[in-house]
Amino acid sequence: MSEKPIQKGDLVMVIRALPCCGQMYRAGFTYIVQSVFRSTRHRCICGAFSDVTVASCDDGLPWPRGFPISILKRLDPGNLSEDVPTDEKVSA
Ligand SMILES: [Zn+2]
Repeated sequence: MSEKPIQKGDLVMVIRALPCCGQMYRAGFTYIVQSVFRSTRHRCICGAFSDVTVASCDDGLPWPRGFPISILKRLDPGNLSEDVPTDEKVSA
């Protein structure tokens, strides 16, 4: 459906195993993408270096400030905003 590429500001979840070693590292972890960049030497937790596009996070993870976008799923912010009051509700 709406298959925009993952970009800065997106809420994403880790849903797949790491491409190089198959480890399900941090599966289910969600974060807001801080930046998207290509890395020719992205270091995995297994020690391997990959040529991948990385969506970085900034939450103090020991490793590695981001994940390859190939293992991420973008979450629809529309599904998460139900509890957020809108101006319309407040003024009604
Ligand atoms: Zn690995």
